[in-house]
Amino acid sequence: MGLTIEVYKLSALNDLEQRKVRDAFALAPPVLNYDGFHRRVLKGGMTQTKGMSPAQILEKFMSGLDPDPEGQHTPGVIRVDITGFWAASNTIGSATVNGTRQWINRRYLNRYSSQDIVSHVVHETCHRYGWTHAGYGSHKSNSVPYQMGYRFSDAWEEYYSQERKPWAFAPMASDVQVRLVA
Ligand SMILES: [Zn+2]
Repeated sequence: MGLTIEVYKLSALNDLEQRKVRDAFALAPPVLNYDGFHRRVLKGGMTQTKGMSPAQILEKFMSGLDPDPEGQHTPGVIRVDITGFWAASNTIGSATVNGTRQWINRRYLNRYSSQDIVSHVVHETCHRYGWTHAGYGSHKSNSVPYQMGYRFSDAWEEYYSQERKPWAFAPMASDVQVRLVA
């Protein structure tokens, strides 16, 4: 079964910021589908996994078992519902654990690349799936949300550098789609 990312709702963001988010997600499907992303997740080494193996973490993330805004689960769909805020702090964003919504600091959104934006959403999506990051230092940075964000970002880098050299990369059929609803 394929995975659909639905950019479902964008609130308290201006037109340019909304376009940045949509443009970023338009580039996301091949990376989510990319073997280089899946391989990075499967190599393991993450903490605060809620007892899940690397394969189970990948499967859960790619399943799209996401509580949607009406409180229903729509298998195969990750719904992205982002609200902007402005803070001078170093808080990039937050999300409701096991919930539907997430927030992004527009101070970061404005300087972020597409790669940064989607990697941030991967981190927050892990919170929405129930993973958290207690503690400090490497305990925190090795947690599922941070590692999934970092590994997705590395895979993006690799995918798009290979993509510019078509002889070095055999394209694969993507079963990840993006639907722009907002
Ligand atoms: Zn977090």
